[in-house]
Amino acid sequence: MKNEKCKLCGTELKKDWIALHRKLLDIDAKEFLCISCLADTFGCDVEDLEIKIEEFKEQGCVLFK
Ligand SMILES: [Zn+2]
Repeated sequence: MKNEKCKLCGTELKKDWIALHRKLLDIDAKEFLCISCLADTFGCDVEDLEIKIEEFKEQGCVLFK
């Protein structure tokens, strides 16, 4: 898979961020946001989203495989 970049700031995306975007915003998304732009979108801290990622992984969410 080619490296995706954040739609807003151009930061190279990690696959966990793409999975988080899909999980929280749009499962069929073609463009993605990095974790800091996602945090801005939701008005929360990056740290909160990192906790979410860990929670989803623990739940065994298929997006985070
Ligand atoms: Zn960004």
